[in-house]
Amino acid sequence: MNVYWNGEVVPQEQAKVNPLDRGFLLGDGIYEVVRIYQGMAFELEAHQERFDRSAQRIGLLQEYPRLKVVLDALMAQQSDQLMDGMLYLQTSRGVAPRKHFFPNPPVAPSTFGFLSPLPRPDLMNRAMARSTSVDDRRWLDCDIKSISLLGAVMAAQKAQETGSVEAILHRDGRVTEGSHTNVFAVIDGVLRTHPPDHWILNGITRQVVVQLARSRGMSVLEDAVTLEELRKADELFLTGTTVEIWPVSHLDGLKVGGQAPGELTCQLMKAFNERVSGKVDA
Ligand code: PMP
Repeated sequence: MNVYWNGEVVPQEQAKVNPLDRGFLLGDGIYEVVRIYQGMAFELEAHQERFDRSAQRIGLLQEYPRLKVVLDALMAQQSDQLMDGMLYLQTSRGVAPRKHFFPNPPVAPSTFGFLSPLPRPDLMNRAMARSTSVDDRRWLDCDIKSISLLGAVMAAQKAQETGSVEAILHRDGRVTEGSHTNVFAVIDGVLRTHPPDHWILNGITRQVVVQLARSRGMSVLEDAVTLEELRKADELFLTGTTVEIWPVSHLDGLKVGGQAPGELTCQLMKAFNERVSGKVDA
């Protein structure tokens, strides 16, 4: 596999990470994952904006390559044209003697990226997801798309050990998001999801789904739900760049909603499919 490494596209084995890289030692960096549909990046501008915002939030002021530059460089080196896939890109604060403080003077950031094939999920026919509620013990700057993912890794592992595909995180019963997804519920006909603040990552898919819902006249309330409300929700689903919209059937082994994806979830999946195939704007 070819990868992007500090301005060049090289075979993966030739991308040599300096062990003093702050990304490697301290998790001091940020990342993005962008969907490629039919060879085209989905919502690239929104991802770039979020990446720039993450950089600003961590005080990364040095210049780093734009997503489009990395994407074009990698695409140019693909042997077969990539149709459905994903772009991963991360930038760390660079290589410097190990200290907690930012290097002064600043050093050049390190940027790593790769493309990989990822077929689209069949939204209307895939098996519904099982989820497990997990105490949200991550830090309080969840709006930063940080490469320090240990809190999310621990939560995802807990979910997997209980036979679930995703952890639904909560703080004292207030649902925040998934370990790598956002969480939506339909309660009394209203689509509810956590507001985009520092308790969650404002998912690009989340933003698209909120826009699609509003433009179809659904009531959307960006207000956290409690675990108790979630257990009684009429519909529950997860959103994310890789999973798109994934209806949930179980929370902690108990059934949530009906036997099949609910009405609003189905409408949104259909709208999302149309949006991906370019038939409608968000
Ligand atoms: N929340 C968290 C914690 C995530 O890691 C992700 C995926 N990166 C999401 C939400 C979903 O975001 P997006 O729709 O941009 O993939």
